[in-house]
Amino acid sequence: MSHCPLTAQHDDEEARLAALASYGILDTPPESAFDEITEIAALICDAPVAVINFIDRDRQWFKSERGLGVRETPLDISICAHAILQSDLFVVPDTTDDPRFAGNPLVTGEPHLRFYAGALLKSPQGLPLGTLCVLDHHPRELSDKQRFALTALANQVMTNLELMRSHREQATLIQELQSTQQQLMHLASTDPLTGLYNRRAFEQRLGQELALIQRGSGEAAFMLLDLDHFKDINDAFGHETGDKVIQAFARLCKNVFRQADVIGRWGGEEFVVLLPRTTPAEAEKAAERLHRQLRQTPLACGGPHPLLVTVSGGICPLTAQSHLGNTLRTADKLLYQAKHNGRNRILSSPIP
Ligand code: GH3
Ligand code: MG
Ligand code: MG
Repeated sequence: MSHCPLTAQHDDEEARLAALASYGILDTPPESAFDEITEIAALICDAPVAVINFIDRDRQWFKSERGLGVRETPLDISICAHAILQSDLFVVPDTTDDPRFAGNPLVTGEPHLRFYAGALLKSPQGLPLGTLCVLDHHPRELSDKQRFALTALANQVMTNLELMRSHREQATLIQELQSTQQQLMHLASTDPLTGLYNRRAFEQRLGQELALIQRGSGEAAFMLLDLDHFKDINDAFGHETGDKVIQAFARLCKNVFRQADVIGRWGGEEFVVLLPRTTPAEAEKAAERLHRQLRQTPLACGGPHPLLVTVSGGICPLTAQSHLGNTLRTADKLLYQAKHNGRNRILSSPIP
């Protein structure tokens, strides 16, 4: 079978292929926006075959085709691969008269393509990516109006491609923004030393819980904790050891309390815990677990010795009648009382 294989290439083939790749159109499924354009091209040009094709490195790929029945062919039998080397509109009135196509198997055999007219699909930088073309089974011409319409439709294909790309870019930007926002939110609500909720975030969560309780969700318990004689640890072993104790205490709390409980660092060596759907009696059980764990778990090393730390605190119920300010004050009073009574204890109050 003798035909003229494609030998010529665009001057800057790599830039052309990069531009084509940037649209991400190759190997995408058919889309009605493009199918309608081929349909209109066929109608206006009164041609049985119309194709939107892109010239890839070693194949031509059809985004949309009407009357051909294939989605890609090798480049050496592509008429469009020649068309993209021409100016805007490339017309071959009779393919058997053109030495470039007379031997092409699509001309000499099925589907016997005798007429070709292709309008360039050009990037804004002027790089030819493919064509919108119409084909016929007998030699013919295009009228001026048909030439104009085919060129205008080719421009519409490019407008579509540009829009789809900027849509994609926008979606990526929005995703990046959302993830940055999430990271910022996380940073803004987290205590950097322990990774626990900071005071602001905890207060917000406490307010939300109170609102839920007022709408009928079960009552909660609030616990305020303060490490005993923490200043002595700093003084004896240094601030760094103090920090390690704070971090270890936070880790221990995460193990002692339930997944649903919210733990926050109130400030310094003070911690707060919100225990949703928990009675003060149940919260006291959790407090006992905390004391037990602290007795068994050194939080750091003070010189050669393991450091056992104790904690004091207050437990308050959180009910529909609670006022957050009062709840905090009550917990604080209980904590003060616990310190006064000898520390290493967490007192519970029935007063809301
Ligand atoms: P009490 O049993 O009465 O609570 O005594 P305390 O020593 O724990 O209480 P006090 O309020 O006297 O001392 C708390 C100390 O905690 C003082 C402060 O320097 C220290 N502190 C606060 N924040 C940090 C921190 O982030 N890291 C370290 N290492 N120390 C801190
Ligand atoms: Mg304190
Ligand atoms: Mg303390």
